[in-house]
Amino acid sequence: MKDFHELKLIRELTQVKDDLIQSHEIERVNINGNSFPIIAFTIGSHDVEKPTLGLFAGVHGLERVGTHVVLTYLTSLFKQLSWDQDLRRTLKDCRIVSIPLINPAGMAYHQRSNPNGVDLMRNAPIDCEDGAQTFLVSGHRISSKLPWYRGEEGQPMELESQALVNFCKDQLFDSAAAITVDFHSGFGMKDRLWFPYAKTSQPFPRIKQVQNLKNILDETLPHHIYKIEPQYDSYTISGDLWDYIFDLHMKHNIKTKKMILPWTLEMGSWIWVKKNPFQVFSSGGFFNPIKSHRYDRTMRRHILLIDFLFRATRNYQAWI
Ligand SMILES: [Zn+2]
Repeated sequence: MKDFHELKLIRELTQVKDDLIQSHEIERVNINGNSFPIIAFTIGSHDVEKPTLGLFAGVHGLERVGTHVVLTYLTSLFKQLSWDQDLRRTLKDCRIVSIPLINPAGMAYHQRSNPNGVDLMRNAPIDCEDGAQTFLVSGHRISSKLPWYRGEEGQPMELESQALVNFCKDQLFDSAAAITVDFHSGFGMKDRLWFPYAKTSQPFPRIKQVQNLKNILDETLPHHIYKIEPQYDSYTISGDLWDYIFDLHMKHNIKTKKMILPWTLEMGSWIWVKKNPFQVFSSGGFFNPIKSHRYDRTMRRHILLIDFLFRATRNYQAWI
């Protein structure tokens, strides 16, 4: 199978030669005689203790727009590195790490799940609290033929999920402060910035830092459009990878004050569909903006957010 559009863009980025940029194939998904790499980028300082911004997308293969936002940002960043000496100096003291497409086979075959029919965002070994489940949507083990399938009980995590967890352990767990954003689309009318937990309404242990970061976002970008809330407020899920990664990070850093704030940006696709109902008939139309002005606006809007989070990450001492 030839590279599809997003994988081609990722491969092009791996060709950029710059001593501040490294790319690695961290895993490979083989299916039906085809083979798809999971490619990660690390940008800036090689010191994993430096503050780090993590950008992730493509957990769900249908949600192409998230991968596009991350690739738009990385493409712009790589171009900027060729002329902006201030940025080059800045990146000697901090880092940006990214996996723009975590589920490449899902995207290649136009499906939400990975090739085994597993919804990767339901795949971590972690259950949501009793009584909080929504039938199927919260994750289930009934059949891989149904959406939101978690995988078989007691089995190791899927290769893509494990690759993400391993990458976060290597690249983020020893960082003095890390902020991550995982880009999704498909739920609601608004763009939501979710913080953990997805599994429980119990207070998130880093709620104070979330509030502080929200305050500086509100003050710095007063016209931003994000609804900031715990994911639990929208729906609960079992097996959320970011709940799992956050809890692992807490255990790993029990004696340190190191912090990770994993955000999920859920781009509200219903507004795209409402304004352009016919797009539901196009491939991926429910999850992605189709009209070009709407696509451009989506890219512009979230690049501004990433820039803000990059500055907040490297200046974490001011708000942590
Ligand atoms: Zn998603």
